[in-house]
Amino acid sequence: GAVVEFSYDALPGRVVFGPGVARTRLADEVERLGARRLLLVASRRSADVVAAMVEPFRGRIAGTFDAVREHVPVETAQAAREAAARADADAVLCIGGGSTVGAAKAVALTTRIPVLAVPTTYAGSEVTPIWGMTENGRKTTGVDPAVLPRVVVYDPELTASLPRELAVASGLNAMAHGVEAFWAPRRNPVSSVIAEEGIAALASGLRADDPADLLRGAWLCGAAFAVAGSGLHHKLCHVLGGTFDLPHARTHAVVLPHVLALNAPGAPEAVARTARALGTADPVRGLRALADELGVPRGLRELGMAESDIDDAARLTEPAVPADNPVPVGGGALRRLVRAAWAGEDQR
Ligand code: NAD
Repeated sequence: GAVVEFSYDALPGRVVFGPGVARTRLADEVERLGARRLLLVASRRSADVVAAMVEPFRGRIAGTFDAVREHVPVETAQAAREAAARADADAVLCIGGGSTVGAAKAVALTTRIPVLAVPTTYAGSEVTPIWGMTENGRKTTGVDPAVLPRVVVYDPELTASLPRELAVASGLNAMAHGVEAFWAPRRNPVSSVIAEEGIAALASGLRADDPADLLRGAWLCGAAFAVAGSGLHHKLCHVLGGTFDLPHARTHAVVLPHVLALNAPGAPEAVARTARALGTADPVRGLRALADELGVPRGLRELGMAESDIDDAARLTEPAVPADNPVPVGGGALRRLVRAAWAGEDQR
C-alpha cells in the first residue's frame, strides 16, 4: 500500500494482568515501586474489598482518600492533594473506576509522585497520560506524563462485580476508544493493530459476559486511544456530556455507530479492521446489532437529549474536530450526524 507518514511515541508503564492478581501480586508491585508511604485512593463503595486487598502491606498505607467524585471537581483534586501532603505520601495507589483514577492523577499532576492503578471498570484511564478536572461545570483536560500510572494491576475478578448495565456501558465506552483510534490524529500502525485486537476482545467479552476478555479489550483499546488521541467521536461525546449532561458511557455507546457511518466512506482501514474484529461484513450494522443485543437505546433522545439541542451540539463540536477527519464535517454533515444519533435513525 501507499507509504503514509506518521510519528509514534510509545508510552511507558508496567502491566500485570490475571484473575486474582490484585490479591496475589499487589504487595510485590508496591515493593517493586519502592513505595513506603502510600496514599490509598478508593471510593467508599468498595471499602471492604479494598481493605482486604491492601491487608498484606497495610503498614505502608500512610493515608486514605475516599471522597471520590465523578469528573474530578477541583475541590476533590485539592482535598486529595491535601491528603497526600498530610500523609507525606511517596506514591498513590488507586483502586476503582475512571473517577478514582482521575483523583489519583490530580495528585500526581502537582506532586509528581508515581501512581499504581488497580482498575475496576473498563474506562481505560489507567493507561493514558490524560488528566481531567471540572470547575463550575466546565471540564478541562490536559496531558502530562507524570499522571500516567507506572504500574497497572488488571484483575478481572474485580470487574466481575460490575452490574450488567454498567459493564455493558463501560465496555462499549472502551470499544469507542478502539474504533476512534483508527482515524484519530496520532494513529499509527501499532495503535491500529492494538485497537483491532481490543475491539475483538470486547465484542466477545460483551456477548459472553466475560470479565477477562472485557478487561483485556479495555486495556488494549485504552492503550490505542492513549497514543492515537481524540477524534470526532470523543469531541462530540465531550460536548454531549459536558454541555448537555448526558451520561458518559451510554452516550458513547449510542453515538459510535453513527460516527463510524459518517466516517466510513473516507476510512477504509477503520471499516476493514472493525469489520474483522466484529466478525461481520458491515461494521456499522455490526456495531448496531451488538448494541441492540445488549439493550442499548438507539437514540440520544432516549438518554434525555432535547431535539432543540441538536444545532448547538453540532455547532459546539465542529471547531474541535481534527482537520484530518476522514470525511469533511462542514456543510451540515455534523448536524445530520447529531440528528441521526438523536433520533436513532440512519443519516440522510
Ligand atoms: P466511575 O469511576 O465513575 O464508576 C462508575 C460507577 O461504578 C461508580 O458508581 C463506581 O462506584 C461504580 N463501580 C466502579 N467499579 C465497580 C465495580 N467493580 N463493581 C461495582 N461498581 C463499580 O466511571 P468510569 O466509567 O469508570 O469512569 C468515568 C470517568 O473516567 C469520567 O470522569 C471520564 O471522563 C474519566 N475517563 C478518563 C480517561 C482519561 O484518559 N483521562 C479515560 C476514560 C475515562
